[in-house]
Amino acid sequence: MYMSTSEIRTAFLEYFRSQGHQVVSSSSLVPHNDPTLLFTNAGMNQFKDVFLGADKRAYNRATTSQRCVRAGGKHNDLENVGYTARHHTFFEMLGNFSFGDYFKQDAIKFAWGFLTEVLQLPKERLLVTVYATDDEAFDIWEKEVGVPADRIVRIGDNKGAPYASDNFWAMGDTGPCGPCTEIFYDHGDHIWGGRPGSPEEDGDRFIEIWNVVFMQFNRQADGTMEPLPRPSVDTGMGLERISAIMQGVHSNYEIDIFQALIKKAAEIVGTTDLSNQSLRVIADHIRSCAFLVADGVMPSNEGRGYVLRRIIRRAVRHGRKLGATDVFFYKLAAELAVQMKDVAEELIAQLPLVERVLRIEEEQFVRTLDRGLLLLEDALANLGDAKVIPGEVVFKLYDTYGFPADLTADVVREREIGIDEEGFNAEMEKQRARAKEASSFGVNYNEMLKLDFETPFTGYKTLSEQTRVI
Ligand code: ATP
Ligand code: MG
Ligand code: MG
Ligand code: MG
Repeated sequence: MYMSTSEIRTAFLEYFRSQGHQVVSSSSLVPHNDPTLLFTNAGMNQFKDVFLGADKRAYNRATTSQRCVRAGGKHNDLENVGYTARHHTFFEMLGNFSFGDYFKQDAIKFAWGFLTEVLQLPKERLLVTVYATDDEAFDIWEKEVGVPADRIVRIGDNKGAPYASDNFWAMGDTGPCGPCTEIFYDHGDHIWGGRPGSPEEDGDRFIEIWNVVFMQFNRQADGTMEPLPRPSVDTGMGLERISAIMQGVHSNYEIDIFQALIKKAAEIVGTTDLSNQSLRVIADHIRSCAFLVADGVMPSNEGRGYVLRRIIRRAVRHGRKLGATDVFFYKLAAELAVQMKDVAEELIAQLPLVERVLRIEEEQFVRTLDRGLLLLEDALANLGDAKVIPGEVVFKLYDTYGFPADLTADVVREREIGIDEEGFNAEMEKQRARAKEASSFGVNYNEMLKLDFETPFTGYKTLSEQTRVI
């Protein structure tokens, strides 16, 4: 049964509404009230205080489609983009939440009900994992839901480190966390990859679609697990991953929204090879960059703004690689607003600003991009048998040509070359020391720049900071 991405989002929210959940809008990508978090990386973020018992809502069941960015911090997928079929810097996470209301049994049954009854996925394609010692979850899957025991995989603690397993979910180094059970979809044996827990699990055959977390603890900075006042449920399913399944394709990049963005990008840069990896990267990056600007992040040299700047520059470089001769990236924002109109209220309202910010950022970078790339080609030609670009070169590219180190790494990775990160960091240290010395004679601009990250963003107050209940 084919369903568009937009239809799946609606079906999900409707299903949980019919099970007594309040439909709540996505919160901003900038977690204004949480200094421990770089960007919103999961649906539960906006409910963190509710899980901790520090905040109360008028409802104890909620459902959302939350925009997320995973390009820094604990969950960082930037380096996966373009290399796996399933990772984006920006994605939507469909979620249902119980704040001290239902627990394991209902959470599992709801998830199974949505997948097998509403979406009518074939049960034999589904596989589940549980936390190694969670017999209760195992029994619910086997005895109450009827999943055969050989399709339920126990995932243990990583290398003996307690609570470090893939089946123990944590939002960050501190905060709400707990054991989880995850649902995987088997895309078929023509695709490389093994079952979760097997040595080949990093492949793309068995794709994790849904994580159902049993929120039980609040992890303290010293690692202590403090039990939460009321055991709760937090789930997250990647909308793009479930769309791929419903649209009969393997890669997320083949779903409706991405195909439209890829076509548009190809048209703008003037290429006809729609399967080009750079087009996928650009289609991914326009989503995170446009939504981040719409949510109030501005490119800068520190903190959130620097992550945004790095993603924009990576996209610009991929455009160059495809033969773009003119500033191009900002032209995708309007197409994105059309493709995601159901959930792009802020983006639509801010479109002129988003386009202007992206255009200016690209105009600035293209002034030095080509010369930087030439320098890098030189360095590559002089490498001999070495497999890493020296730290001094990476630093020069950073300092003189505006190449963030990860951008240089992205360019050379395509040729199976790495960068000397340690050497680069040492050069950065030297520069900091020089700046510090200079600053004793006047204003220390370096220190001022750092404030950028620590000062909460205060613009666009009315747009998306407040969670609106719809
Ligand atoms: P993976 O193991 O594939 O990296 P994850 O275990 O890190 O995923 P969770 O933190 O459990 O992901 O997030 C819940 C769900 O969100 C996942 O099951 C997946 O469907 C989706 N998801 C996570 N990261 C991404 C991403 N970078 N791009 C698209 N969807 C994602
Ligand atoms: Mg991950
Ligand atoms: Mg995982
Ligand atoms: Mg997971």
